[in-house]
Amino acid sequence: MNDKRRPSDNFKHYVDELQKGNSFFSAEIIFSKSVLAFAFIDAVKALLFLMANSVYMMFVYIMTCVLLMTLAHNRIKRGHHLSVIMMVLLEISVMAVLTTIFVGWDTGFPNLLFACITASFYFPLVVKTEKRNILSLAFCILILLCYFVCYLLTSLLVPITPLSELWTTFFFVFNTLLSMALMVAFSFLFVWELMSKQRILQQQNDQLDELAHKDPLTHLLNRRSMNELIGNHMDNLKKTGRRFTIVLGDIDNFKSVNDTYGHEAGDMVLVAVSDIISRNVGPNDLVSRWGGEEILLLLSEPLEAATLTTDRIRKRIDENIVSHEGQDIHVSMTFGAAESIPGFRIEHLIQQADDRLYFGKKHGKNQVVTELPEGFITKKK
Ligand code: GH3
Ligand code: MG
Ligand code: MG
Repeated sequence: MNDKRRPSDNFKHYVDELQKGNSFFSAEIIFSKSVLAFAFIDAVKALLFLMANSVYMMFVYIMTCVLLMTLAHNRIKRGHHLSVIMMVLLEISVMAVLTTIFVGWDTGFPNLLFACITASFYFPLVVKTEKRNILSLAFCILILLCYFVCYLLTSLLVPITPLSELWTTFFFVFNTLLSMALMVAFSFLFVWELMSKQRILQQQNDQLDELAHKDPLTHLLNRRSMNELIGNHMDNLKKTGRRFTIVLGDIDNFKSVNDTYGHEAGDMVLVAVSDIISRNVGPNDLVSRWGGEEILLLLSEPLEAATLTTDRIRKRIDENIVSHEGQDIHVSMTFGAAESIPGFRIEHLIQQADDRLYFGKKHGKNQVVTELPEGFITKKK
């Protein structure tokens, strides 16, 4: 299979990820691209200095460009991301001071230091380091220090190799625009990285929530969360008088499914039955795995309507065939239903549903039982 993406697919993928706030760049890509970008900026500056007849500065920038390309690239490959950040930011800061001393304050080179402040917050965020805040703060102090050193030196000394007025203005505009572009880029990347981390946290929270409240096999609510939710419904019943029905269902002869087709097939049947039940209840109804192959439903309707719903579910299960390794498995399910009564304890309500289920099991299975005949003595299996 050819899994090479076309450039248009790549672009679409990046736009999608961008909209979702996902980070799709590894730290290695971020660092190598940033270093390349800085090296490219230095190369452009070298060219501009050549055009401005400042050969000395041109050589200095060619050197920094080569230095960044080789040293930094080497370190990125070895995973020394932290030292790369230090090198790049140090290079920009030192070069801003040096160039200002040579060509003067008015060329706008100190402005590049402002862009370093946003970069000093972004880069440590990408690297997995505990010392993130201290690192950013240390860089900021260093950058501010460089700015004031620039100011002090240029107010005390005259530029060593001053540029023409035209080139001074040109460099001022170039450096100011470049600083702004870098500030925007790093602020954007900073927010993007935060959004991506927030998203990962949200996904992990959702997974934890799922683990705490759902049964891993059937994805139905687990018994503990169902108990809590029934409690809420009981409180609601007291306040609003809105009745609901508790239905307890149990798969018929499930043991023989396991014995005949194996435990894995039994699991498949359990999942299929749970899906049928979930698909056939209303948005306000609750379905939980109460134990083994017992499912407890809370239907937000009185007994009469709940009986119709439950019987529809029973029929769907009875009609359904589960295929496992070429064999068709059929199961049925028996249900006992009991309507909530204000003042009744929840345990009594579930017991009532259980007694009716027991009656159904004893009298032919595959049915919904909503009341017991006079004098029927309930007894656990
Ligand atoms: P009845 O019609 O009276 O309910 O008969 P039954 O065979 O369904 O009842 P019984 O309680 O004797 O057996 C239930 C079986 O369900 C026993 C147990 O091995 C099986 N079981 C419980 N949980 C699971 C599960 O998660 N997966 C599978 N495959 N089987 C399970
Ligand atoms: Mg059973
Ligand atoms: Mg059972």
